[in-house]
Amino acid sequence: MKSFERWEALLTEEDEVVLAGRIKILPEHISQMIAAGEVVERPSSVVKELIENSIDAESSEIIVELKRGGLELIRVVDNGEGIPPEDVSLALERFATSKIKSADDLYSIHTLGFRGEALPSIASVSKMTIKTRVDNSLSGTKVICEGGKIIGISEIGCPKGTEVEVRDIFFNLPVKRKFLKSIQYELRHSLNQFLRTSLAYPWITWRFIHDGHIIHELIRSDSLLVRLDAIFGHEVVEQLQRVEYEDGGIKISGFSSNPTVSKGNSDGILFYINRRYVRDRIIHKAILDSYRHIIPSGRFPVTILFISLPPSSVDVNVHPTKMEVKFKEPERIYQSIRNSLQLIFEEKVEGHPTEQFKIKEEGLKGAYPSFDFRDEMIKAPMLKEEGELKWEVAKERALKIIGQVQRTYIICEGEGNIIFIDQHAAHERILFERFKKELNMGKRVSQKLLIPIPMEVSKEESLLLESIGDIFEKVGFEIETIGGGLHAIQSVPSFIDIKDPKAMVRKILDDFSLIVAEEAVDKFEKVLISMACHSAIREGLMLVREEMEGLIKNLSPFNYSTTCPHGRPIFYLLGLDDLAKEFRRR
Ligand code: ADP
Ligand code: MG
Repeated sequence: MKSFERWEALLTEEDEVVLAGRIKILPEHISQMIAAGEVVERPSSVVKELIENSIDAESSEIIVELKRGGLELIRVVDNGEGIPPEDVSLALERFATSKIKSADDLYSIHTLGFRGEALPSIASVSKMTIKTRVDNSLSGTKVICEGGKIIGISEIGCPKGTEVEVRDIFFNLPVKRKFLKSIQYELRHSLNQFLRTSLAYPWITWRFIHDGHIIHELIRSDSLLVRLDAIFGHEVVEQLQRVEYEDGGIKISGFSSNPTVSKGNSDGILFYINRRYVRDRIIHKAILDSYRHIIPSGRFPVTILFISLPPSSVDVNVHPTKMEVKFKEPERIYQSIRNSLQLIFEEKVEGHPTEQFKIKEEGLKGAYPSFDFRDEMIKAPMLKEEGELKWEVAKERALKIIGQVQRTYIICEGEGNIIFIDQHAAHERILFERFKKELNMGKRVSQKLLIPIPMEVSKEESLLLESIGDIFEKVGFEIETIGGGLHAIQSVPSFIDIKDPKAMVRKILDDFSLIVAEEAVDKFEKVLISMACHSAIREGLMLVREEMEGLIKNLSPFNYSTTCPHGRPIFYLLGLDDLAKEFRRR
């Protein structure tokens, strides 16, 4: 009953009758609102449903316009087939769809929509206006709806196609409205939704307008590469390999990145089933597994895959917004993805057995720190000297360095153990603590560049730059917006010697991904982690003795259970006692 009480506030006078008994059948407009909650979570859900309808209507042009991140207005205009006058009010009824005619159709769905839930759901939580006209009709229809109730239908003149305007989302559900986040956050969500959908439909011209500014204009093209180029940029597209694969009924096509490039987040991994963007653990894992040991751990490829399956072998009806699917034969899907990606790596190796190895080396070179870590490590151990951090083991450890293995781990002996140290994790923690400390001391952390460094960023990165601009400033970066995607780095942090400030800013943006920026993370800390990670020595780097000594000295304030700022262990201990036992000496 508790949850019912929350709805009680929404009841109107007519509803009192229904409430007389103990068990209550929810009045229609309330049950509709509850159902709407499943489909409409935030403005981006509205964008998703409306553009899917426009695609289903075979439009060749779709415009998405938002005001204030969609909180004030979401408008989708298409030039598709429109809705005939006699159907318009029906389209607003629940379970009314033109896309399914018999129960059998449910097993062979070729359209994006089919449940007839979106329009009524959106209508019930907003103020909605639809204007629509079909090709062979002289006039169109306009319907005005408020909180799910149709308050006006009239004949109007309008272009062929459909325009849906959604204002004041959740105006009648203040609790849900409160859950919405900032304009920037909601905008990013909608933009994400827009981009991943438009990617799958390159033959449609798309526009995204926010507060009167065109943010994206994607002109129709026969080539997916042209669309990828417009969305991901030239640098990424140059590093993509074509994927083509077919096995039985499973067809996979798309593009995937060379092992030489990788991203700090998984935003570049997008896959579609029968052109529907989906999230799926099995496919995601198959992609990551394909790149395991090929790109550095913790990095992600850029992979865009279109998977087509006979509609009967996948159930898209398991999730309210159809974002998740259920396969009849998940293992086959996994294996097919692995096979399709394997082909792009194999082609590289064929005839040149050393090629793959070379790629890996180059990949690591690209991952090297951008400032002179060698000076950095041999510097006097800062943490210990200043003695401000109280770690369990603050005395210097008497460790004897044995050597380095796999250019990744330093092995030492001491205190009754053999100690393995992950060089990257260790350095990352040292730098992170040092950065934090220097910033907390409140001295000037910024240093003006003689010549500002120009930097081109994507629309999304530009939004991100804006929303974490204060943090960039706090760590010493001053980045000026020039316009048209161009920015200029004016100042850089003075507490580290950054060789390539642009690469560092990119790394920070990269690690943030589009969504993280507003989640409950400590943004300041997150930026410091990115900076530390970017500056720290990587795996694959040969260290000389003095460098290992420097690193270990700097590690002395940290106890053996310390992790890197991402949470990976730094130390692994093998007790000499245990070793003796293994050899049956004890
Ligand atoms: P579904 O897409 O699952 O059928 P919706 O509630 O999204 O359900 O839409 C209901 C119906 O309204 C659709 O089946 C379609 O006939 C019609 N419709 C909605 N949007 C459009 C549009 N942009 N162009 C043409 N018809 C549309
Ligand atoms: Mg729909």
